Amino acid sequence: MVDSNKTVLVVTPHPDDAEGGAGGTIVKWANEGNKIVLLVCTNGDKGTSDASMPSDKLAEIREKEQLNAAKALGVSEVVFLREPDQGLDDNDRFREKVVRQIRKHKPEIVVTIDPNRPYIRHRDHYYCGRVTLDAVFPYARDHKAFPEHLMEGLEPHKVQEMYMFRSETPDFYVDITDTFEAKMDALYCHVSQMGRPREEGQVQSRERAAETGKKAGYELAEGFKYINIGR
Ligand SMILES: [Zn+2]
Repeated sequence: MVDSNKTVLVVTPHPDDAEGGAGGTIVKWANEGNKIVLLVCTNGDKGTSDASMPSDKLAEIREKEQLNAAKALGVSEVVFLREPDQGLDDNDRFREKVVRQIRKHKPEIVVTIDPNRPYIRHRDHYYCGRVTLDAVFPYARDHKAFPEHLMEGLEPHKVQEMYMFRSETPDFYVDITDTFEAKMDALYCHVSQMGRPREEGQVQSRERAAETGKKAGYELAEGFKYINIGR
């Protein structure tokens, strides 16, 4: 359970995914006195329909917007891995980077995107979720996984719980009635990714949160796939 004084590591594939999938929950947990660390895996440098926009310029914009959004969420620290957009893969290079952050920040809770979406899905979403699950268990836990970390003083770490957003089979719901506006404040910091004005987009987001809320008896909610690793 996330109550207070916990550390929560949120691993997001692109700038804006965490805000859209779990923004209301992150604000709520931050308000309750938990420390939130946001790990942004890719630099989002391909997510545009504007062919004249150079990728490096886009990455720069995305990073600035992400920092603004993180502030709106109440995040304590943002870590950018700066992997290329559409460049995540299930390999040791990426896994080591996620394991490193788990061992460094020692979160009780890890939040990421649910990779189990069939057929059409963004491959970065799949590999972010999949590699984060593997990084939590067993890699971050085991001394012999990336043993070079020990030389740097990064001890193995056991994460207690995982919450996975954008799940097709959610089984845990968080009441975001009081934090929905703050979630929208954070989401709309991603100015370059918002195709339409907030007044329009917010209506749809509220409908979705209300639909999710019905399943749990809340006015507005976010749903997660919940995993208790401590069991
Ligand atoms: Zn994404």
